[in-house]
Amino acid sequence: MAEKKTGKRPVERTFVDAKTGKTIAATTVVTDAEDVAREVHVHRAEPVGDPGPRRTIAIVLWIVAIVFEVLALLVFNGTLESLPGNPLVWLIGFIVADLACVVIASSLWKKANHMDPPSEANKTAFFLKSQLGAILSVIAFLPLLVLVFTDKNADKQVKTIGSIAAAVALVIGLGASIDFDPVSAEDVAQTQQAAIELGDGNVYWTPFGHVYHLNPNCQAIINSTEITVGTASEAYAAGRTRACKFCAEASGSDVLKDLSQTEDEALPSAA
Ligand SMILES: [Zn+2]
Repeated sequence: MAEKKTGKRPVERTFVDAKTGKTIAATTVVTDAEDVAREVHVHRAEPVGDPGPRRTIAIVLWIVAIVFEVLALLVFNGTLESLPGNPLVWLIGFIVADLACVVIASSLWKKANHMDPPSEANKTAFFLKSQLGAILSVIAFLPLLVLVFTDKNADKQVKTIGSIAAAVALVIGLGASIDFDPVSAEDVAQTQQAAIELGDGNVYWTPFGHVYHLNPNCQAIINSTEITVGTASEAYAAGRTRACKFCAEASGSDVLKDLSQTEDEALPSAA
């Protein structure tokens, strides 16, 4: 970074590897004169793990969710009338269990997609893989909702409460499952390419930041004392799927500008 302006003096930020305690890099930056040299802990990012187990557990949970949906339906139509107690409690209980499975499965699936993003080359496949959680949410609640709501012979109270519960579960399940910020393999590749062309091949992020930075001395993180350094894949796996706006502007890269947002605009990380 170039020296500039009077009244500022260079301050050394010492980068310390969190695991070994060794200084792994030191950069000199221009900062306010009152500032003292600070120790910056730089953590190597966790290697991107295997998304396979998360996908497997998600699929199993979706199957269990649909089993709970069927059980709810069997309670509603009287097939399971031998169950002790109030059938309405069973109906609501099965819907809640269905919802819990859907929410946990979608969270695991979204995390797996950040670890191993699908390619955008095939738009249909990309949509299906990115939004599988949302699709399964519909399957886990809509048939139940329609069958309960349209049943003409059911007890009115059971029908009303069952319909409301299924509708609320559908809305909550969809809200938790739609990936509002799906990432693609191409996004990750473009980020990695930019990190190589514009820097040292790494990107940087902070514990509570939602975006990644190309420059460890970016104005948004210059005062941070905890910085994680990693590859583009590691940043995406850690839920940092957008470039910092300042870094993107400074890079002059249109691709990065498309991928960027400020910390304030960033969606809460699902990671
Ligand atoms: Zn930045």
